[in-house]
Amino acid sequence: MSGNADIAVIGLGVMGANLARNFRSRGLTVAVHNRRTEVTEHLLAEHGAEGFVACTTPEELVAALKTPRVVVLMVTAGQAVDAVIASIGEHLEPGDILVDGGNSHYADTERRSVAAAAHDLLYVGMGVSGGEEGALLGPSMMPGGDTRAWPVIRPLMEKAAAVGQGTCVAWCGRGGAGHYTKMVHNGIEYGDMQLLGEVFTLMRDGLGMDAPAQAEVFEGWNRGRLSSFLVEITAGIVASRDPQGAGPLVDAILDEAGQKGTGRWTSVQAVEAGVPLPTITAAVDARAISSRRAQRTAARAVLPRGVARIPELAVEDLEQALYAAKLASYAQGFDLLRTASEERGYGIDLGEVARIWTAGCIIRAAFLGRVREAFQRDPELPSLVLDPSFAEELATALPAWRRVVAAAVIAGIPVPALSASLAWIDQVRGERGAAQLIQAQRDWFGAHTYRRLDAPDAPIHTDWASLERLHR
Ligand code: NDP
Repeated sequence: MSGNADIAVIGLGVMGANLARNFRSRGLTVAVHNRRTEVTEHLLAEHGAEGFVACTTPEELVAALKTPRVVVLMVTAGQAVDAVIASIGEHLEPGDILVDGGNSHYADTERRSVAAAAHDLLYVGMGVSGGEEGALLGPSMMPGGDTRAWPVIRPLMEKAAAVGQGTCVAWCGRGGAGHYTKMVHNGIEYGDMQLLGEVFTLMRDGLGMDAPAQAEVFEGWNRGRLSSFLVEITAGIVASRDPQGAGPLVDAILDEAGQKGTGRWTSVQAVEAGVPLPTITAAVDARAISSRRAQRTAARAVLPRGVARIPELAVEDLEQALYAAKLASYAQGFDLLRTASEERGYGIDLGEVARIWTAGCIIRAAFLGRVREAFQRDPELPSLVLDPSFAEELATALPAWRRVVAAAVIAGIPVPALSASLAWIDQVRGERGAAQLIQAQRDWFGAHTYRRLDAPDAPIHTDWASLERLHR
């Protein structure tokens, strides 16, 4: 049996309800279902029933849809997704499409794709970014999975997606490519937020700037090359008065950052893939340190922390450092995407990914338009920092970036992401680093062999203990 609904949304929480309203606002008829029926009733009571087909059971939902059916799941990631697939899967027919729009782990998506394919269902894992407002007005959407689903879901998703440099939805690739891309997006988001947090503490603790002065700087940056949603809201945050006090609200907030896991997943994947991701990992670690309040309190008792002022630091240097560190972080994130795409056969188009992040999502930024251009100029670009225009900016920023990191370290203000990015860039362009000593150590204790500069193709092992020692 089939009906006249164009698309279905299962799970009418924060994201699902707003996405369903978004689809409806584009003229689509949307079948909606939620585990707790009162949530569906509430949606219709609050926003009107026209354009919605409220369904109390999965069977009803399936019957309400045109074929091939497109069912979008917006439920809590994890077991809930499996539970919903189990409840609806038996009612679907070959060729129907299941789209998981939650923040599922890409490996779960790959497992579910295989299971769905065994029943001739087309499975899509689709990252959706933009939060509540994005879901309602236009998110950035990152679908991937069974390629046969794309021509069917494309016109539907293009109606709902944000518009930046084109419509912010693109096919990311096979298998778990969509959720992998969303995972990296979230990792980059962690990096951006940490970097902004670090320049905020430098302004407040190092430069002693008050909240209006900080806001003015962030607002100015938002008019320049750092223009982005996160800089914009940071300006708004630092300027906001505490409704229960006189000072800035941000200073009344317990500094214990939460995390749902997608940033950590990105770091874990990077370690497993052998891709260096120090900026994002520093951000994940910083959140973990922040959440260990008892340990921090105990440490302060024995190692009191004195923070020195650094009035000599120029705000222009902070801008250079923030921009360069952000660029380094994006270079690392795109490197991870490229590596995963190659290793897993996803076929991710990095320029397209940058394009669909230009609007709708949390990391939306003018900068991403330039990232897109860099990959358009050279789709095989091994690293963003090698793009000539970015390389030139990095070279210009380096002296200021060093001044910022050095001053912060001396003043005792932690800047883990700014400094990890700087160390990364210094390592990336370094001719010879610590690896030669490490190879010698490995060979000494484990006979792992090493290769000489003058004979790089021939691994050799040395009995180090028997070598003649150099003396002064
Ligand atoms: P909510 O907590 O607001 O809603 C969760 C939904 O999942 C509810 O409809 C709930 O139904 C349903 N659900 C939970 N467990 C089950 C189950 N076992 N069986 C059936 N339904 C179940 O979550 P969000 O809307 O915020 O998030 C949905 C997904 O989107 C998540 O994967 C999240 O990570 C992702 N996401 C969220 C963003 C955000 O900003 N909030 C941004 C981008 C992605 P019930 O009402 O019956 O409990």
